[in-house]
Amino acid sequence: MNKNYFKSIGVALMLFCVMPGFAQQADSVKYIKAGKFIDTDKGKVLTNQVIVVDHDTIKAVGGNISIPAGAKVIDLSDATVMPGLIDCHTHLTSQPGENYYDDIFRKTPIDLAIVAPVYAKRTLMAGFTACRDVGAPAFIDIALRNAINNGDVPGPRMLCATLFIGSTGSHGDLNGFSPYLDWIGPKEMSGVANGVDGVRKQVRYNIKYGAGVIKFGASAGVLSEEESVGAPQYTQEEMNAIVDEAHLWGLKACAHAHGNLAIKMAVKAGVASIEHGSFLDDEAIALMKQHGTYLVADIYNDDYILSDYAKHGTPDKIINKEKLVGKTQRLSFERAVKGGVKIAFGTDAGVYPHGWNAKQFKYMVKFGLTPMQAIQAATSSAADLLGWQAKVGSITAGKYADLIAVKADPLADITTLENVPFVMKGGEVYKDELRK
Ligand SMILES: [Zn+2]
Repeated sequence: MNKNYFKSIGVALMLFCVMPGFAQQADSVKYIKAGKFIDTDKGKVLTNQVIVVDHDTIKAVGGNISIPAGAKVIDLSDATVMPGLIDCHTHLTSQPGENYYDDIFRKTPIDLAIVAPVYAKRTLMAGFTACRDVGAPAFIDIALRNAINNGDVPGPRMLCATLFIGSTGSHGDLNGFSPYLDWIGPKEMSGVANGVDGVRKQVRYNIKYGAGVIKFGASAGVLSEEESVGAPQYTQEEMNAIVDEAHLWGLKACAHAHGNLAIKMAVKAGVASIEHGSFLDDEAIALMKQHGTYLVADIYNDDYILSDYAKHGTPDKIINKEKLVGKTQRLSFERAVKGGVKIAFGTDAGVYPHGWNAKQFKYMVKFGLTPMQAIQAATSSAADLLGWQAKVGSITAGKYADLIAVKADPLADITTLENVPFVMKGGEVYKDELRK
């Protein structure tokens, strides 16, 4: 077939579309009637809006769009329609199993890869149409992202960090065990990197295999056996090098950071977000505000860790650290909100069962956000943090048709979002329990 063949087909299609006799809509066009509509960009609620979706994209939104006879209509006029939710801190490739040591020593990346699509589907069905996945072994996150993007498995859009970058003995390393037990596999795949040159090389390695964001451990952690929760685990020079290298490649960086000093070092290095942010003093809060650094604080999962982790054989040492951190983290969050720090929704899903992401909204409201602000943290602000503000985060013409609907008003009761009955991603309805 030659070029002219395609040209003539193109002309015929154009004629078909513009001729008045053929004005009926293409099969790909849907009209969604939204009784209530949350405009997350403006923080307002509108009523009786119509959303026009073509293929995977929102074409138009408005109160006086007329719906042609015979058009495909999704009637959500007795529901509240809002953008699909975004979790900025997930680990879709794992969640706690029956036994702590089995999880560490008896599972390979292949075990994780087999169940990861199940977790991705649960996340999508919970109303989360996008996530920033901040640390996964062996590039499973990239394989999962690709399978989702190819339409092979259902799941949220994923921005992936690939390997967690950490220093020797850090939160990202295997620690607390005999020195005869070591990482098995290519050293670069451990994510352990030291020194300015070493961390730059690790950033490049992650990007080579698909990272869309860089995650590193600025401080020690809770769910690992190294001693201190808050101590910095990289020097200022190493943190600067990680962030600078990420920026060279056009990516943002985020830092796992619990302690005050590590938080300040990471903010100064230029990270886009602080993950956890458990111990925040006034200086750290002021510094985050000044740099426009997002706080992504996982303030729900303390409940699950304290109720369930001991049953799985998690060492007391770790559970005791959680007892120390959980409460303080919620109070730090409250102070950060009062101090005007930008907040994005992130839960550390994978530390607790996938699909429970929305349980965190209740705590975000309890500790200082209005329901609208909590929703914005998981939509427009989250999209801004991901650098995806042109694609997702609000129901706006030109963005992906990622939206959810709930029966009750989430601004009156935020826990409504814990059971999302209608989920659309890319114009495709994945769940509809509203119109059965
Ligand atoms: Zn995490």
